[in-house]
Amino acid sequence: MREPRFDVLFEPVPIGPVTARNRFFQVPHCNGMGYRDPSAHAAMRGVKAEGGWAVVCTEEVEIHPSAEVCPYIEGRLWDDRDIPMHERLCEQVHEHGSLAGIELCYNGIAASNRHTRIIPMAPSSLPVKWHDPVQARAMTGSDIADLRRWHREAVVRSLQAGYDIVYVYAGHNLTILQHFLSRRYNDRSDSYGGSLENRARLLREVLEDTLEECQGRAGVVCRIAVDEMIGPRGLERAEMEELLGLIGELPDCWDFMLGSWPDDSVTSRFQEEGGQEPYVRGLKALTTRPVVGVGRFTSPDTMVRMIREGTLDFIGAARPSIADPFLPVKLEQGRYEDIRECIGCNICVSGDFMMAPIRCTQNPSMGEEWRRGWHPERIRPRESDARVLVVGAGPAGLEAAMMLGRRGYEVVLAEAGDELGGRVAREARLPGLAAWIRVLDYRKSQLERMANVELAFGSRLDAAEVAEYGFDQVAVATGATWRRDAVGRWHTRPAPLDPGLPTLTPDDLMAGRRPQGEHVVLFDDDHYYMGGVLAELLVAEGRRVTLVTPAARVSDWADHTMEVERIQGRLLTLGVELRTGHGLLSSAADGVRLACAYTGREHDLACDGLVLVTARLPEDALAVELAGAGASSRAVGDAFSPSTIAAAVWDGRRYAEELDQPDDERERLAFVRETVQLAG
Ligand code: ADP
Ligand code: SF4
Repeated sequence: MREPRFDVLFEPVPIGPVTARNRFFQVPHCNGMGYRDPSAHAAMRGVKAEGGWAVVCTEEVEIHPSAEVCPYIEGRLWDDRDIPMHERLCEQVHEHGSLAGIELCYNGIAASNRHTRIIPMAPSSLPVKWHDPVQARAMTGSDIADLRRWHREAVVRSLQAGYDIVYVYAGHNLTILQHFLSRRYNDRSDSYGGSLENRARLLREVLEDTLEECQGRAGVVCRIAVDEMIGPRGLERAEMEELLGLIGELPDCWDFMLGSWPDDSVTSRFQEEGGQEPYVRGLKALTTRPVVGVGRFTSPDTMVRMIREGTLDFIGAARPSIADPFLPVKLEQGRYEDIRECIGCNICVSGDFMMAPIRCTQNPSMGEEWRRGWHPERIRPRESDARVLVVGAGPAGLEAAMMLGRRGYEVVLAEAGDELGGRVAREARLPGLAAWIRVLDYRKSQLERMANVELAFGSRLDAAEVAEYGFDQVAVATGATWRRDAVGRWHTRPAPLDPGLPTLTPDDLMAGRRPQGEHVVLFDDDHYYMGGVLAELLVAEGRRVTLVTPAARVSDWADHTMEVERIQGRLLTLGVELRTGHGLLSSAADGVRLACAYTGREHDLACDGLVLVTARLPEDALAVELAGAGASSRAVGDAFSPSTIAAAVWDGRRYAEELDQPDDERERLAFVRETVQLAG
């Protein structure tokens, strides 16, 4: 049963003419499906509603072809032809008694219009935010009138589609309404520039237009960056307070957020839960309207405090609702230990950045609700009496065992070591990655309560032992090992390395081994978090570190998790020497030979030790042997092919889903998609 102190989270709250049934508010978030995969998108939002989120919103939705963010896949409401996909979303959200919200967006300077080639518009003549060789033109009075008309038309279409909440969006440095507000983009000398009142004029007008259209039918929420996080060049607290004095009572609800997207969705490596609180606290007192805010909230006590202390009226969430769409229902039912807490890794964000359907480390069903029919809480019951052995208790093995257990199979999860978690347990001990242990915590607590899943520790199994036990099915989730020969992207064949130079891998460092001597060269050809994290570990222990990478930036792929700039900043602050644009050619007993990635020019760098963060080798010997012996087995997760933790969890789920699935169904699922309807 739920503890009474959490009752406050389940109070209904009105938003203008509509009422949210509780305080759980899924704020708009991107998902990489948008207008390309509308049914998949609708199904994903429907699951959130089913999981108890009283308000479920879209991502940003383009309202006109003169502001489109090609190649990114967001929502679209350019004309009436886009209405049906929104109707589908609203139906799925309404089916579970939630309110559907749409975030209308006109990107202005934040769109290059790569698709339509229309010159973007902005308050002033300035280059677009991206590095495209495109400059936006300053809007005339008639452009402003057009923009207001387009927004109004989009509001009408939103209501027609069935939305209960319409957003007026002035946040994330993504929308023209914020650009007008902000001194850094607005140098106008007409009534839309200069004083705050003038810079806020367009926001006020669009709010008034939207309220007029929505009257009595939908609530109007204004999402706004309360601090642009660039100091006095942009919006800060004082102006925000002044702005609330001017228009604080206009919208039916305020959605307060911070800066641009990387400021708003900070990873756990760089920010704790509730990181926005200092910026948002106190603003609610300046309006009688309800306030929603975010902060990667997963702790119900923090949520209650946000309400009790008068900071927020709604617990806003993107990531916690992605990791656990059923968070509200679980809290309502007092099932706290069932909550799958977001680990703050931003793999979800990477989907949008890669224009691919959203994925999540904790929730492998995210983005697969429609395409594969996966559900975050349910899975079809077992279809045979097969007894299943899962070898290896890393993220892949844990997920496979848990989901097979849920299906009702009899499962043994055998782990060579004396702890569960595999790479997650090891990596969570590295600087900044502590929250990643939640991947294990959730699954461990589920598995421990399953009578049909047995955990066996300290047993490193070989093929003969596996055969002896006589399981019907074997999932080999034995993980992967970092390579010692520098093979990766730069070297696709082993590099000439001198055994006289102490050379370690991430596995060595995670096992507690350290290079001797003072100066360590770390060669990062992996390009995600590991190289940077290990550099942090080594400098914290007093070593001098030179990080060498062929890429132009350290941890280049972390651009997709919006961490790349923070990583450079942190490493530079810690005194790590960054040697970007360089590859490792070879090593000698007293150092390494590097080559410039652009000119090929070579030079030597003296060091006492080398750390190689390049590629991994799948630990697939057991899988190969079992397959050779004709066993019903398959390698799962990193043992199949090394990738992210999210990919390992996803593959574990896939193994559990595919057990006893007919081949033709498996084949069909690979092709589920929506196709273009040709113009007549
Ligand atoms: P993944 O990310 O694919 O889940 P991990 O490397 O995190 O892979 O986990 C693999 C786990 O498998 C580790 O905990 C490791 O100790 C265990 N393991 C590896 N080989 C065996 C084996 N032969 N028998 C039992 N457990 C094994
Ligand atoms: Fe949280 Fe990571 Fe899932 Fe995103 S991908 S919701 S940050 S666990």
